[in-house]
Amino acid sequence: MTMQLDSSGKLRHLITLEGLDKPLLERLIDRAEGYLTTPGDCPPNGSPFAGRSVANLFFEPSTRTRSSFELAAKRLGLHVLNLDVRTSSRTKGESILDTIYTLEAMACDVFVLRDSEPGLPDFIMRNVEPWVSVLSAGEADRNHPTQGLLDMLTMRRHKRDFSQLSVSIVGDILHSRVAHSAAHALKTLGVGQLRLIAPESLMPGTGEFLGAERHTRLETGIAGADVIMTLRIQKERMNSASIPDSESYFQQYGLTPERLALAKPDAIVMHPGPMNRGTEIASEVADGPQSVIREQVTNGVATRMAVMMTVLETLHGN
Ligand code: ASP
Repeated sequence: MTMQLDSSGKLRHLITLEGLDKPLLERLIDRAEGYLTTPGDCPPNGSPFAGRSVANLFFEPSTRTRSSFELAAKRLGLHVLNLDVRTSSRTKGESILDTIYTLEAMACDVFVLRDSEPGLPDFIMRNVEPWVSVLSAGEADRNHPTQGLLDMLTMRRHKRDFSQLSVSIVGDILHSRVAHSAAHALKTLGVGQLRLIAPESLMPGTGEFLGAERHTRLETGIAGADVIMTLRIQKERMNSASIPDSESYFQQYGLTPERLALAKPDAIVMHPGPMNRGTEIASEVADGPQSVIREQVTNGVATRMAVMMTVLETLHGN
């Protein structure tokens, strides 16, 4: 996705991790790590871009990502506009592009977009002013690039060398933009082994996730793993007849302490949230010593700060 880069190869928009090179991913992860503070300390406050504006347009529900983008922007001293899309002009028939043009006319520099349909970030990216940046906060089942970056930061802080890692992704991989973005980044960063674990009905086709091992049994899929990434069943992307029954799903694919014991003793457990305890993960695991789920949330704010700073520098220099 070369359009994400400007003519000198600098990141201007972020809508997918696919195609971004390793040095760029590493720079973003390094930069995010630099924004982490000791828990309890006051986070950064301000940046050379203070006074610029970010508009959050979420056409799909979000708790973590939206508040994370908002806090990240505020910590950089940016103004944040959270559009209430239920009452926005889109419901009155105004095209999304007209909404963007309206916000551009109010000097919004960065648009953060989430939508359930594929294609919106790319479409908007191709139509904005040269001084504007588009960041995806989740595109249908395809891309969630800042989640992918924060997941890489979380793995790297615990495991360092990607080439030595065995990463198992468990659950509704078919509909997961989190899994897709993680796989793009892991491939670029040279992960040692990627394993996908899902029932047949939630396993993506063989044209995707090239090079990954595929398992339908959780026990074999997590044996010896360093990282286990659990996923929520994306009910909103399925028709009701194909939604697996929560109890039998947990029996086969729920991450319990007994199953976790099959992975490496120092394996870490991740989940992008929102979690369904008792469906994809047992509470003892979610709250247990190997869980890094809350660290992911912390790393998410730092990652979004890093991404916003990077695109603002591309647009306006530093
Ligand atoms: N929060 C993540 C997403 O937006 C994961 C999920 O919803 O299950 O894709």
